[in-house]
Amino acid sequence: RAELIRSRIVGLLEAFPDYPRPGVVYQDLSRIYAEPGVLDDAADHVRDHFSGRFDRIVAVESRGFVMGAVLAARCEVPLTLVRKPGKLPGAVHSVGYALEYGEDRLEVRQGAIAPGERVLCVDDVLATGGTLLAAAELVEASAAEVAGSVVLVELSGLPGAERLKAYDLLSLCEVA
Ligand code: AMP
Repeated sequence: RAELIRSRIVGLLEAFPDYPRPGVVYQDLSRIYAEPGVLDDAADHVRDHFSGRFDRIVAVESRGFVMGAVLAARCEVPLTLVRKPGKLPGAVHSVGYALEYGEDRLEVRQGAIAPGERVLCVDDVLATGGTLLAAAELVEASAAEVAGSVVLVELSGLPGAERLKAYDLLSLCEVA
């Protein structure tokens, strides 16, 4: 099944060279979201791969929300959204991370993740790994544990997978 899911995702991906900047090949997932059943099958595969070893999904703003929501529904576990700064009310945990140019932050509401929970972090694309590492730091700042991380697409040739080694990464496909 893993190979079937991989080939469906790869077949539906659209690569846009030099978007949003020269030198970047943007991987657009619109056709994956538009194809009924693809995310459900991918979610079932993720659920079986981690076989009950997680209590909560954490999804990263904004494109991680799509797969995160499907996965949480399929696995019948709670979903928590990790957001860009200034989007969440109340007290938050906040983590900064480096971008190619500059810095960004991710936040999660304090108390949204229960201490001791095993959390699966989800995003659409893995490039340098900075985003998912920041999500993992937010899980740890909540006194919970990262059970693993999941991406629909891993960009090979970037250090993302290497940087996420400690966090049991499952990439549903790899593209150059
Ligand atoms: P990174 O933190 O470098 O692993 O970047 C991952 C985040 O940036 C994800 O949330 C992606 O949505 C987005 N991203 C980075 N590079 C690309 C790309 N080439 N195509 C599509 N999305 C990307």
